[in-house]
Amino acid sequence: KKITIAIDGFSSTGKSTLAKELAKKLGYAYIDTGAMYRAVTLFAMRKGFINNREFHAEKLIEALTDIDLQFIYNAQKGFAEVYLNQENVEEIIRSLEVSNFVSQIATLTEVRKKLVEQQQSLGREKGVVMDGRDIGTVVFPYAELKIFMTASPEIRAERRFLELKNKGQDIQFDEVFKNVVERDRLDSTREDSPLIKASDAIEVDNSNLTKEEQFDLILQMAQN
Ligand code: C5P
Repeated sequence: KKITIAIDGFSSTGKSTLAKELAKKLGYAYIDTGAMYRAVTLFAMRKGFINNREFHAEKLIEALTDIDLQFIYNAQKGFAEVYLNQENVEEIIRSLEVSNFVSQIATLTEVRKKLVEQQQSLGREKGVVMDGRDIGTVVFPYAELKIFMTASPEIRAERRFLELKNKGQDIQFDEVFKNVVERDRLDSTREDSPLIKASDAIEVDNSNLTKEEQFDLILQMAQN
């Protein structure tokens, strides 16, 4: 029987890698909700609504109806990529610049309302793995399996640093570490949907688990 799987947790805990693999193995759809917040952030940056000096939240809110987000399956990669107004933005939304602004954008109630509605509609049929911050608490409180992933901030920053470096980005560990800590802070103090573990979520601390160990552990939970 197909179920809904919610994977929440702090940034760079490896949620999306795990969620993608799980979806592939189970033949489920995978939805990366962080990518949706990131795409809205990219839109706001391009429109000049947000930069290092100013943030025109009201302008973004007014323009929300101009934002069309879609997930389109890429057979080569084996998962669905995010499109912002018909443009594939899967790669660009991973930049440190977008990462630095995204948690501010994610505090806006209007943005959350729009994205949560779309997430609920994308996941209305069972057989979906969704990862984010509020999937088990807000988007799918009735999900049959909820995982809450954690790892120490140092380990998460190290993983993200290596990932960005491998992609050829010119960055320092300190910048990445600062971003991880700052996003944790903003994500957990958000007013209307703070990052918290749902009472029925299973916490998995993967600081000392390999990807394979983690995958096997969670696959077992999904199959029970
Ligand atoms: O998962 P990822 O790190 O790509 O998410 C980027 C940001 O989007 C998070 O730091 C958080 O601020 C926001 N987010 C959110 N709710 C979600 C998913 C992501 O607020 N369900």
